[in-house]
Amino acid sequence: MSALLLRGVELEGRVVDVRCRDGLVVEVGPGLRSGPDEEVLEGSGGAVLPGLFDHHVHLLAMAAAAASLDLGPTAVAVPVGLDREIRAAVADGQAGGWLRAAGYHEAWGGPLDRDRLDRLTGPDRPLRVKHRTGHAWILNTAGCIAVREPENRSGWFVGRDDWLRERLPPAPPPDLAPVGDRLVRLGVTGVTDATPTGDRGHLVVLAGAVTSGALPLRVRVTGGLALAGLPRPPGTERGPVKLMVLDDDGADLGGLIEAVASAHRGGAAVAIHAVSELGAVVAVAAWAQAGVLAGDRLEHGSVLPDALTGFLAAQGVTVVTQPGFVQERGDYYLGNVDPDDLGVLYRCRSLLDAGVAVAGSTDAPFGPDDPWLAMRAAVDRRTRLGAVVGAGEALTPGEALGLFLGHPDRPGGPSRAVEPRAAADLCLLDCPLVTALDELDASHVAATVVAGRVVHRRS
Ligand SMILES: [Zn+2]
Repeated sequence: MSALLLRGVELEGRVVDVRCRDGLVVEVGPGLRSGPDEEVLEGSGGAVLPGLFDHHVHLLAMAAAAASLDLGPTAVAVPVGLDREIRAAVADGQAGGWLRAAGYHEAWGGPLDRDRLDRLTGPDRPLRVKHRTGHAWILNTAGCIAVREPENRSGWFVGRDDWLRERLPPAPPPDLAPVGDRLVRLGVTGVTDATPTGDRGHLVVLAGAVTSGALPLRVRVTGGLALAGLPRPPGTERGPVKLMVLDDDGADLGGLIEAVASAHRGGAAVAIHAVSELGAVVAVAAWAQAGVLAGDRLEHGSVLPDALTGFLAAQGVTVVTQPGFVQERGDYYLGNVDPDDLGVLYRCRSLLDAGVAVAGSTDAPFGPDDPWLAMRAAVDRRTRLGAVVGAGEALTPGEALGLFLGHPDRPGGPSRAVEPRAAADLCLLDCPLVTALDELDASHVAATVVAGRVVHRRS
């Protein structure tokens, strides 16, 4: 069925009906009559929004995390929780096979090394634990032996994802259906996968999941420079080219300038990952040399010095930020981040005031996957334990919602609208907009529509 009528929904303060056909909104107004072949979705006065777009996620890592032992902050509030989860998983599983855990961070798991893991698993069961940031693995002794690096005393493998994968038994790609299901329940109708992969197989898996319906939403994929010129498998849309500034071992400014210029020559915008002040400075220096193309973005901008905001505003570079990190890791930042940087961590308000375009994302699974949680954090700037980080960076609820309503090609631009000729990507709430803005809670998502098709309806 390609026709859908949303009946009795709140839009811009009035109750109207919204007709969708062939993937588009075609009619908005009060008292529309439903046609014989039309599916009807009763709105009961709940607000209809453009579907949320999460501008920076990692879908395959989300799927892998969903299939792993969860050591994230919900499962593991405090270090003894990590001990309990790992012990229980070892007791449950069959001996011999790898145990894989994800979501660990010092902030809630406490310090972790090979010896602590050995005490929890014993000598026989290989275990690998992915750090919440995605940049490191921690292995127990059985794991270090299995990957033929028994002399690694700490058990930490930093930035060695590909190296590690080659030493692990081959595994089928993870199932993306639970990820798709979770996203549409949150009211998300599209994502940008911001993985800097050079592996075309990554694109093939994502495109296959879109085509099969496992991912029933719009998927844009960045990929690294190596994929920029290659044809894309049908199913996914092409995003900007993802570039990394590796600032821990000396940033390569010359290489970054060449990469930006090369992407631009091919007509592609770039999305540059920068989580430190140095990273942001190097990214801006590269843009100053190579030039800026419409759609260029700075990912994270976790610590953005004032000296850069004028350039970002004047050149139209969008900052794609993650307020959810303030909630999830704020307590850790308060104890571990340079006090001078605390006030400008994950800036929002001061960027908007300086004229910088700002868009929101979750960075799932390396941050909490719920955009509503990110919106709340953008408004109250509260940590899990209730402390406040950067109160001066708070947004209004409407601005926070707007972080997830931008067009995927212009994430920090104007919000999409529910109007004729717009894509029928919609999020229907069970309450008026005023309530939704007051609470910013995913529990109000009643239904999700992608390209005019109902992909989630709360039962
Ligand atoms: Zn990321």
